[in-house]
Amino acid sequence: MADHQHVGKCLCGAVTYRATGLADIWYCHCTQCRSLTGHYLAACRTERDQISVSGDVIWSSHSGTSEHGRCARCGSVLFWANRRTDFVSILPGSLESSKGIAVRGHLYVAEKGAYYEINDGLPQFETYPQEGLTA
Ligand SMILES: [Zn+2]
Ligand SMILES: [Zn+2]
Repeated sequence: MADHQHVGKCLCGAVTYRATGLADIWYCHCTQCRSLTGHYLAACRTERDQISVSGDVIWSSHSGTSEHGRCARCGSVLFWANRRTDFVSILPGSLESSKGIAVRGHLYVAEKGAYYEINDGLPQFETYPQEGLTA
């Protein structure tokens, strides 16, 4: 399934992307992701050279080496990345189809909001799995 090509777009359609290698969605409950999204982040990563984007994306750095990309016209947040890595994550709400993609678990649960519970039975990590996100 890693070779499957996924396509997605922002709310207004001005930004579109094509990506291969998308497979795992992780939910991040850290305070930064909760501020950025208004709830918690769903992110699905692939290697930088496996994603192509067209349209005007504004990249904003929000802490350290973390940055997010949003449509210059409608503001939809589409991408998240850590500049120290070779990965870019798409936010899966923008996907046309999530075929072959599954949620793997929860990150930074120690920082989750007090107003919700996590009870979907998926793995939860206080911060980040030591072995990385190989699911
Ligand atoms: Zn847009
Ligand atoms: Zn986070």
